[in-house]
Amino acid sequence: MNTSPITTSVFDLFKVGPGPSSSHTIGPMKAAFDFLQRLQQLPEAIQQKATAIGIYLYGSLSATGKGHGTDRAIVAGLLGWQPETTDPEELLALLKDPAINYPIQVGSRSIDINNNSLHFERKRYESPYANTMVLKLEANGEILAEEEYYSIGGGFVIRKGEPEAGPVSVDLPYPYRTMKELRSHLTASKLPLEDVLIANEMALTGRSRKEINLRIDQILDFMHKAVKRGLRHKGILPGSIRLHRKAPVLYKQACGLSQSSDSFLIFLNAYCLAASEENAAGGIVVTAPTSGASGVIPGLTFLAKKHFHYDKETLRKGMLAAAAVGFLVKHNASISGAEMGCMGEIGTAAAMGAAFLTYCAGKPIDAVESAAEICIEHHLGMTCDPIGGYVQIPCIERNAMGAVKAYNAFLLATAGTPAHQKISLDAVIKVMKATGRDMSTKYKETSEAGLALSATEC
Ligand code: SF4
Repeated sequence: MNTSPITTSVFDLFKVGPGPSSSHTIGPMKAAFDFLQRLQQLPEAIQQKATAIGIYLYGSLSATGKGHGTDRAIVAGLLGWQPETTDPEELLALLKDPAINYPIQVGSRSIDINNNSLHFERKRYESPYANTMVLKLEANGEILAEEEYYSIGGGFVIRKGEPEAGPVSVDLPYPYRTMKELRSHLTASKLPLEDVLIANEMALTGRSRKEINLRIDQILDFMHKAVKRGLRHKGILPGSIRLHRKAPVLYKQACGLSQSSDSFLIFLNAYCLAASEENAAGGIVVTAPTSGASGVIPGLTFLAKKHFHYDKETLRKGMLAAAAVGFLVKHNASISGAEMGCMGEIGTAAAMGAAFLTYCAGKPIDAVESAAEICIEHHLGMTCDPIGGYVQIPCIERNAMGAVKAYNAFLLATAGTPAHQKISLDAVIKVMKATGRDMSTKYKETSEAGLALSATEC
């Protein structure tokens, strides 16, 4: 068990950046940006000697990195681009023309990189994480500087030698590692969940309550912009599958069926598909908790705003409840498809969505926990086997299915007595971790089995 308290910020969980994959796009971009900063600190004599930058990708990054745009993301990071401010069109254009070299500035020295700088290694690399990348500054074969990074899901990156838990020295007012510990803070302090989470967030980030609320509103705005773009954009998604976008079709259908009992579900499907299709197209999305799963929470929050007419305050509270569930999974299992299969991505997103719906509806913490638990319970063992390495099949529809499960988990958890639920959230997260550990690597974002093998039929 991870013995340190949770020190993840709400805004590290909900990160703005280009699709299609937080672990394969946002994470590598951040790692490359970090490497670039470190190169600037090297003595000038070493910088002047450098002739090349070598980028080596292993594990799932190597297996599905091409389809996920890992190569472009790394070049972008080395060019000094940051996920939130990246122009998706410019990102998609990188490396398209093999004749183009990209000059990387290392001190006063300019070093060209291109497709040949990237090495998708098939051999196994001894590393504690599935997504490993090694970046090297080289001089005619001699290594001048080298860093090893692990992309652990949701756009989180660890540099070799650094602790995973983040800033351990932070003095949190309500430290917790588990749902049980979080609940004891709620009982002892008599504070609502959002106050406990905001107090911790203030200690972690130095932001005021007002700034935190404002940023949550901005995050929701980014999510809902992705939904709205996806409802408008028609056509075929990038990549060899040639998958047609479906969100506008569903939206039109739902609008025409507004008196039908099906319309509510079709609207929800349309919203989730819209954000997911934007993600697949490399558009700007919000990790929730990952980019692959970035359709579930936007779909549900858009529904809550547009159909249930929840006010800003209610939506913010729901987002914090969702974040708490994401933190617990990230801390005690993993939100990475490469570690847990899809139960770590869509399973977590659905559990977060169930907590969002339940807390927005004003239900007690027992019910919030129950709803999240039910969702994870019914995603256990879900594999990750994206066809062609693209975050499209099964990912896009899976976001809609995850949101529907979240809604049903909310209904199940709020009927009867939540305290009668036999399995705790902490217990099911432990089961998720054990299941992920036992799952074959073939089903963990490598596209080596399952649906990925049916690619020829597409
Ligand atoms: S199958 Fe699930 S975990 Fe795998 S890439 Fe798609 S959304 Fe992510």
